[in-house]
Amino acid sequence: MDRAQRPAAFRPRSSPVQADTSMPCPFCAGNEESTPPALETYGRSGSWLVRVVPNRFPAFEGDQPFVVEHRGPVFTQATAGGIHEVLVLSPEHENGWENLSDEQAALVMLAIRDRVEEHSMVPGLRYSQAIVNSGREAGASIDHPHGQLLGMSFVPRELADEQAGFARFAGRCLLCTTVDAEEDAGYRVVYADDRVLVICPFWSGVPFEMLVIPRAHGPHLHRATPADLVAVGRALRMVLGQLHEKIGEVAYNIVFHAAPYRAPEPYHWHVHVLPKLTTLAGFELGTGVLINIVAPEQAAEELRVAVPA
Ligand SMILES: [Zn+2]
Ligand SMILES: [Zn+2]
Ligand SMILES: [Zn+2]
Repeated sequence: MDRAQRPAAFRPRSSPVQADTSMPCPFCAGNEESTPPALETYGRSGSWLVRVVPNRFPAFEGDQPFVVEHRGPVFTQATAGGIHEVLVLSPEHENGWENLSDEQAALVMLAIRDRVEEHSMVPGLRYSQAIVNSGREAGASIDHPHGQLLGMSFVPRELADEQAGFARFAGRCLLCTTVDAEEDAGYRVVYADDRVLVICPFWSGVPFEMLVIPRAHGPHLHRATPADLVAVGRALRMVLGQLHEKIGEVAYNIVFHAAPYRAPEPYHWHVHVLPKLTTLAGFELGTGVLINIVAPEQAAEELRVAVPA
């Protein structure tokens, strides 16, 4: 708390994503031929509202299995096949998640569910990572709001660590317990409706970090009910809108976490919202210790949104 400062002390940082904006945007309606053909589109007949296309520069591709190879005492490498897709959030160039309509946010969530479901049936794949990077500081390289879906042949470290955390927590589910405890306490709650709770977690590592938890317990996003997916999409829109209103144009990452397809319990799917207001510097990279200068209670107070009637 000693390091706490007023949120206004942050200069919102959002630099132009693209240095060169003279090229036509590949994700705008009308420019569909500048991406590979769509894997899936959503929307009423005629024009699309959400579009999923293969990534032109994939981090993972092909169907080689995950094989670790030791090429010397300290030279270990692994081949990793997989899938890397881009999810165009809307035909509108300006609309980030905070500006999506409820209908549009719902379509995006349903598209994520469908793609993860599809990935889960591909032999050799074990886990899908869905992300949205918004703003250059958060890693976006194309202005047009979009997410990415990576189907992977291994379970990444962060997920394995979280799974271990769930397994260590004795008794009930860690996040079901968190929902009850945070609602009792109240002061870290940002948003609550009958399906979703959004909190600034007790363990927040970065200023204004948020955790979106569906109340219905389930390890898999791709098995969630449509009503819960719609509610999570709407909660994201509300809290991101509030973040922009209170803090200004800030870059952020949205990270969707669900259990590996075939190692489901104990786990409870959820979404991290990680605003990029600070930079990981030498101390953080060297020690893995994050110094968060805004207490989560203070962040929640600033961001709290009332549920619309
Ligand atoms: Zn565009
Ligand atoms: Zn749970
Ligand atoms: Zn997580």
